[in-house]
Amino acid sequence: MNTYPPPRVLEFPEVHYPEGYRSTPVIGGNFGITAGLPKLEDIIEWQEGRRRFTRGYYRLVEGPQLFQLQQGFSKHFSVRHAVAFSSLQSGLLELLELLFNRFEEMRLKVIHDHFDPEFSSLVNTLQSLRRPVSYFPSNLENPLQTVDPGKQEVLLIVLKEPISWIRNHFDLLKTASIEKIPTVVFTVSFKELESFPENADYWVTSLASFDDGTALNGGIVLGNKDRQMTELREIRKKRGNVLSLRNASLMMGDLRVSGKLLSPKIEPRNSTDSKQQVLERLCYLEHAEHGLLYPSGMSAVSSVISLLRRPDKPKVIVIGLLYTDTYGFLESTYRGKKDTALYLKTDDIKVLEQYLDDQTACILTETITNPLLEIPDLETLGQLARKYQIPLVIDNTLATPINCRPLDWGADLVIHSTSKYLSGGNDHGGGAVLFRKEHWKWSFEHHHDQWGLDPWEPEIQILQQNLENFEERMLRFNLNGDKVAKFLKNHPEVEKVYHGSLVQKKDLSPKWLSGFGSVVSFTLRSGDLESLRQFYDHLPAPLLKAPSLGSNQTLVCPYALLAHYHEPSSFFEYHGISKHLIRLAVGCEHDLDPIIGALEEGLNQTL
Ligand code: PLP
Repeated sequence: MNTYPPPRVLEFPEVHYPEGYRSTPVIGGNFGITAGLPKLEDIIEWQEGRRRFTRGYYRLVEGPQLFQLQQGFSKHFSVRHAVAFSSLQSGLLELLELLFNRFEEMRLKVIHDHFDPEFSSLVNTLQSLRRPVSYFPSNLENPLQTVDPGKQEVLLIVLKEPISWIRNHFDLLKTASIEKIPTVVFTVSFKELESFPENADYWVTSLASFDDGTALNGGIVLGNKDRQMTELREIRKKRGNVLSLRNASLMMGDLRVSGKLLSPKIEPRNSTDSKQQVLERLCYLEHAEHGLLYPSGMSAVSSVISLLRRPDKPKVIVIGLLYTDTYGFLESTYRGKKDTALYLKTDDIKVLEQYLDDQTACILTETITNPLLEIPDLETLGQLARKYQIPLVIDNTLATPINCRPLDWGADLVIHSTSKYLSGGNDHGGGAVLFRKEHWKWSFEHHHDQWGLDPWEPEIQILQQNLENFEERMLRFNLNGDKVAKFLKNHPEVEKVYHGSLVQKKDLSPKWLSGFGSVVSFTLRSGDLESLRQFYDHLPAPLLKAPSLGSNQTLVCPYALLAHYHEPSSFFEYHGISKHLIRLAVGCEHDLDPIIGALEEGLNQTL
């Protein structure tokens, strides 16, 4: 007998943003990955928690489709928080990592009643936690009796009929709550439960709705615990397992928009081809043999680090100041431990050898660092990595394979945020990891599978289209970057300009880098906040005032205020970065004059 509950319809309310939200112009269309920030004050108010935005950088601000989806779930199930993820597995694992991560020793108890294929895939997923997991059949009277006193625990309930089990085990769950043992209910479909399971702390379920044959990705975590759910939302920003807005939109039945997007329902075969073709193209560009796609650049970064770092090898050696969320991810607690990353400056590569030991999980850097545009010595890093057999991980987002192919210089793993130059259109969010060695293939594919990290196909199809003219765009990005750097260098209102073309003399250019890309950072001569405000607030079109880089249209943002607002002064001193650093992500426009004219107009305001 089929006991599966009949399908129910979830109704999504109109989006009503609470007070304090400001709508900002989206860049990149309905599913655009960034949005304009017209005034400096907006950014300051946002940083200080006095303002929120309805649109923004795709990983950091929940766009309206996602906001509406989460609101719909939380209203329907009368629960205070709903946080959606790119997959069911990533939702579950992010929650468990959050509950576990403060402790070095922690174990999971799973109460289950079935051994079907779905359950074995869950067992596979839970293995990625690298924590002890014990499985208890649901007919066991009291699994809490086997508690090891003093050990931290989480209870995960994976049952066909969780509600009746919960009702029958009321006392057990009360004890769990008194003992502060978090209780998580897991179901593969949200249609399995009528309401949020009473006495549980969290409910993790899938967004998949197979009734109409549509294969959707996505998972959602529901819960009432304010602190933990807020933390979970923050973790999603840093680890990057975000649900695509296209996916959220289709989930809500917004077919008017998504019908145009070649959803898998319409062209199921084509979508698999897209993934394969994009991977082949990226492997060709990077001289790689294998690759994987991720829901965001940060998902690629955090996956690589999570996979390489182990309890007996927790140390990540970081060269240079890296992208803010990579830095933030490394700064967060790892299995109860702080300070597992060692930060070296690019000049310290000379003395790197003394820090390499058997606790080192990997060496991590960017070919051209964001935002200070430093160029670490990749040749030496490659030689040392080989000598000590330590994986060298290179984020090649700012250089791109047109300017550098790190695998040719001894890197083991190359990371990209495909949302940047590779796409250019501001209409795709994603990431990639590329490598040669067969040796990595199994472990990366396995981890990718455990976390369910395949991006949604329509997202890949946009990347595939945008990649078509990548080489041609990138050559123009390089030229435009050099031109704008030169213009700023010669401008009397500019104090310091950061760009490879200004530092490297032609004959001394690094062998591994043939161009410097188009990210140009600079500071103003009158370096105070007021001058920055005058400059930024008065910048005219066609300059777009927004975060992100590698956009075909030039973007500008007060980078340090956006990315490092809450860092102490010592951070700025150590890294030699100004609080008022401006970052220009020059586009690949054919005619740069209007961009230079707009910069000139802004700079004239700082007098
Ligand atoms: N790596 C670098 C160098 C970046 O600049 C970024 C984002 O700006 C990322 C990784 C993260 O990519 P995403 O924002 O697509 O997650």
